[in-house]
Amino acid sequence: MSGKGDEGERARPGGGRAVLHCDADAFFAAVEVLDRPELAGKPVIVGGLGPRGVVATCSYEARRFGVHSAMPMTTARRLCPQAVFLPGRHERYRQVSRQMFAVFERFSPVIEPLSLDEAFLEAPAAEAERLAVELRAQVRREIGLAVSVGVGPNKLVAKIASDLAKPDGLRVVRPGEVAGFLAPLSVRRLWGIGPRTAEALEQEGIRTVADLRARPEAWFRQRFGQRWEQVRRFALGEDDRPVAPPREAKSMGEEETYPRDLEDRRQLLRRLAALSQAVGARLRAHGLAGRTVTLKLRTGDYRTRTRSRTLPQAVAGDDQIYREAVLLLERAWGGEPVRLLGVQLSGLERPRSEQLSLLERGEGRPERLWRTVDELRARFGPRAVLWGAAEESRPSRRMKRQRREEG
Ligand SMILES: [Mg+2]
Repeated sequence: MSGKGDEGERARPGGGRAVLHCDADAFFAAVEVLDRPELAGKPVIVGGLGPRGVVATCSYEARRFGVHSAMPMTTARRLCPQAVFLPGRHERYRQVSRQMFAVFERFSPVIEPLSLDEAFLEAPAAEAERLAVELRAQVRREIGLAVSVGVGPNKLVAKIASDLAKPDGLRVVRPGEVAGFLAPLSVRRLWGIGPRTAEALEQEGIRTVADLRARPEAWFRQRFGQRWEQVRRFALGEDDRPVAPPREAKSMGEEETYPRDLEDRRQLLRRLAALSQAVGARLRAHGLAGRTVTLKLRTGDYRTRTRSRTLPQAVAGDDQIYREAVLLLERAWGGEPVRLLGVQLSGLERPRSEQLSLLERGEGRPERLWRTVDELRARFGPRAVLWGAAEESRPSRRMKRQRREEG
């Protein structure tokens, strides 16, 4: 991109913003190769290995044999019997995904994640290409993965550009180039045109975006009904959907409805421990902590009570949450049968980095402990580490557990 003087960019409405679509190549397979370098250059297929499994991702070496994602594994085995077949390690993929998004965050404050390995980033148009080059280099250097990037004036163009850039490529489409870029492409590349619609259009002799664009407005109205305007805008390369970061949750909670009312204090404490543990794990997984703990209790006769307490500092440890929940239970419960219990954390915040570094220096023992606990649970299952009060805390099959999140 030619920088600040580019007239095409300046002329673009919307304050000279560009969109980057960043998408790791063959992500699951690439992570497997990363961890086992001896797999490099080989066809690697990740997915369900059972009789009804499907391909989740495969390396480009496997794609050469016609293997692609969502294909039945039996077909993949027939097409490429010499491939290395792996069941997938989703916890590991999530870990690498977090590292990759940490790099993305250096390049834009406005990020919309689409999946573990794919996101839209907003950037000043004048700097978009430089940022894309640097982002790809940093992911390659620090993580060892190839990320293809498409840069365009909007999401539609950026996404198509990154698809065309794969593997391991960068494609920049400037505003003035959009029409020419889209013209020769199949209509299948456009959002909102599925395989069925595409086939029907091809029957009518409409194969490329240029063919589609040439149709009069009345034809679009008749052909696409309610969504005619959007289809036409996409055909023209116009897309005003913003890059939309996910809304941060304002609260996180868990509640349980019991098949039989609980009457015994020890039972209640056990369930509170289990709920505290579930909420704590979710908060930590999102890198959050909460200042207000709320207990919800519904009695056998359907009366609901909530009690809250706001703490001087945000907490995310199971034990801290549990301690507060128990105090709130003392205030809310008069000994009657309990039908529902819930624990919720609100006033959520992201512990700041200086706080984190303080924690690393020693005062943060609990934080570090919980991080280790979460890692162990991720590796060995939710019951790998149980603490005193939570023993036997597995929800029974008949117990209804509900997650709550308010944004
Ligand atoms: Mg990908």
